[in-house]
Amino acid sequence: MHYTGTIWRPPYEADSLIIEATAGCTHHRCKFCTLYEDLPFKFRPSPMEYIETDLLEAQTWYHDPLRKAEERLFDIAEASCKRVFLAGANPFGLKARHLREIAGLVRKYFLGCESIGCFSRITDVATKTDEELRELAAAGYDGLTIGVETGDDDALAFMGKGYEAKDIVEQCARLDSAGISYAFFYLVGISGRGRGIEGARRTAEIVNRTNPWLIGANMLTIYKSSELYQEILAGNWEEEMEVEKYEEVKELVASLTIQTEFAMLGASNPVMLRGALPEHKSQILSALDAIINDIGEERLRDYRTNLRHL
Ligand code: SF4
Repeated sequence: MHYTGTIWRPPYEADSLIIEATAGCTHHRCKFCTLYEDLPFKFRPSPMEYIETDLLEAQTWYHDPLRKAEERLFDIAEASCKRVFLAGANPFGLKARHLREIAGLVRKYFLGCESIGCFSRITDVATKTDEELRELAAAGYDGLTIGVETGDDDALAFMGKGYEAKDIVEQCARLDSAGISYAFFYLVGISGRGRGIEGARRTAEIVNRTNPWLIGANMLTIYKSSELYQEILAGNWEEEMEVEKYEEVKELVASLTIQTEFAMLGASNPVMLRGALPEHKSQILSALDAIINDIGEERLRDYRTNLRHL
């Protein structure tokens, strides 16, 4: 398989076939981000022949070796892969025609594949027409994961995310119209010390006007190689305490009014949890209170300090 550097995928894509469609990120300017620093380039689309070779190789994984040879030949293109996840920071940033070609290859090798997902930036949706989004939905694109991070415009601008909160609402409405579902990543702590609760309120205001099937909260972990670390050294920004981060999450969960799932999964979260909103709101808030009261700042900070890699 043509995998380049560290491959990142959302926790809920664990059962998907991971095919690398791009490596690196088209934006590459978020101050907190160190995800693709191991690559010698900023962004590279995978050559189509790499994608095709990887799909061909993956096809062999989905066959039962005990089945008779003639049966395997008969349904060789109908292996049981139901979902493909395209690896890369934002494959949805590729041109629509390019994405449709990739979908065509996926269908060539996995006729039974029901959907194709990937990470997307909000700006990647903005560069596509409504018709292109509808065509991508028809080609199987669904369940995008969008790292919106926050609805706090001050934090978005300071961190260099490259869009504003209103763009999240506008572009997600276009995805809704096209029939492409999406999940959000929210970055706890992005608003900085003393502003966590305000950042959560602003985010809830924005998110309550969209329809993500899931909101996944990740906790900001600052590494020395990041631009944000330099901002801290220069006295331009202060990190939230760990307990403030959990107070921020509580505010977000309490302020959400939409039907969705809420999850804290992945290495940045010392304690993992997942539940449906609004059904499990009180249980999630109780679990967050327990983390604040029973684990406390010192042990949470220890976890963060010793987290070598996300
Ligand atoms: S868009 Fe995502 S991958 Fe790219 S620099 Fe920002 S946080 Fe990192």
